[in-house]
Amino acid sequence: MKLLLENAHIEGIRYYDAYRKNGGYRAVEKALKMAPDDIVEEVKKSGLRGRGGAGFPTGMKWSFLAKPEGVPRHLVCNADESEPGTFKDRYLMEFLPHLFVEGLIISSFALGSNATYIYIRGEYAWIPDILEQAIAEAKANGWLGKNIMGSGFDCEIYVQRGAGAYICGEETALIESLEGKRGNPRIKPPFPAVQGLWMRPTVVNNVETIAAVVPIINMGGEEYGKIGVGRSTGTKLISACGNLKRPGVYEIPFDLSVEEFIFGDEWCQGMANGKRLKACIPGGSSVPILPANLLLKTAKGETRYMNYESLSDGGFQTGSMLGSGGFIVLDEDQCVVRHTMSLARFYKHESCGQCSPCREGTGWMYRILKKLEYGQGTSADIDLLWDIQRRIEGNTICPLGDAAAWPVAAAIRHFRDEFEWHVQHPEESQQRNFGLAHY
Ligand code: NAD
Ligand code: SF4
Repeated sequence: MKLLLENAHIEGIRYYDAYRKNGGYRAVEKALKMAPDDIVEEVKKSGLRGRGGAGFPTGMKWSFLAKPEGVPRHLVCNADESEPGTFKDRYLMEFLPHLFVEGLIISSFALGSNATYIYIRGEYAWIPDILEQAIAEAKANGWLGKNIMGSGFDCEIYVQRGAGAYICGEETALIESLEGKRGNPRIKPPFPAVQGLWMRPTVVNNVETIAAVVPIINMGGEEYGKIGVGRSTGTKLISACGNLKRPGVYEIPFDLSVEEFIFGDEWCQGMANGKRLKACIPGGSSVPILPANLLLKTAKGETRYMNYESLSDGGFQTGSMLGSGGFIVLDEDQCVVRHTMSLARFYKHESCGQCSPCREGTGWMYRILKKLEYGQGTSADIDLLWDIQRRIEGNTICPLGDAAAWPVAAAIRHFRDEFEWHVQHPEESQQRNFGLAHY
């Protein structure tokens, strides 16, 4: 069942006329006749969880929004999709911008946001124009601006480009950046729902979360909540990449097994070049890597499914997370040490530098991983690496510290033999890397 991408194949769906002809803006029409609190109630009933990665219940987040007398409230959409392996929001914004705008209008109405912001990553250079056009078309047809469709509700949507910093995807850093400051995360609490943009109550939601509000209003929260399994309701966009025969963006049902998703004809069609599946990071680079055996089945021997609960079964010892849905698949030829080094380099580069465990630890981990990868490491370096990641986790202002530590921990936990191989084979490690880019 497709709830978001159902119309993605229709010619011209990016533009207003085709979108409207195919049922677009029906949900806004319905929502504007409802009381804002009833829309929040529908979203609560739907069980929708934030699609940016944390999976926090959206309806609950909306109901946390403070409403002090006379203080404006804001909806800010986090379109700073920067998690390595994640590109599903790009797809939505590029091909279904009106679905996104429709979701923004309904959500703004429910939350009482007269000025709503989309903060989009700088590297998505061509997408702001697509969004600006969709916003202009919506406004020209009366869905934005003053007194929308006679409801008495005013709303404008503004698009703000980021400048290419991963940390600006962290909600409080995003808010700082939107305010024109350096994108340094704030200490939480207070959460944005209480003190966000310009210290006003603010809801920050991911693009896919906002788009999902449209089918929720169309079908009703209760019906939406019946789709899926357990606390994983609705559908999820997955961006599949790595050594797959057919990578891409897929809308999946939550009862799809991981095995079917990787090997099924309807989905990724197996490994590219007939290679063996070695490992996978199922939810974007920040979540633990899983070796093939723990990816397809849990440690209890049960089938692993593409949903929040099943992927995290076993905790971080033998499980991982659905996260942002960035599904990165590695084949037997990939070196986990090199892969982990590449991620460590990324986090070192993207750390804002506010807290010392992250600022110093990410660089330290990268230097040790580089030593190991290039055949200059020792077994003691592997133990030191383990020790450093443990000291970062849980000791920083924002989740980037954890996100840098978890991939290293999981790589050592599941692939220590590969790290040892580099220690025991220094010459081969150096030769193997001959000709490869030296990070
Ligand atoms: P979080 O769990 O701290 O918060 C989730 C959301 O719930 C936030 O909006 C927060 O404000 C809200 N919240 C939590 N408790 C609250 C309370 N008591 N009152 C009011 N609001 C409350 O996680 P996070 O820092 O927002 O996100 C971390 C996740 O982001 C990671 O799991 C990672 O997967 C993901 N991520 C995604 C991308 C991407 O490109 N999509 C990039 C980096 C990280
Ligand atoms: Fe900055 Fe890293 Fe601290 Fe986050 S954890 S605030 S990125 S130094």
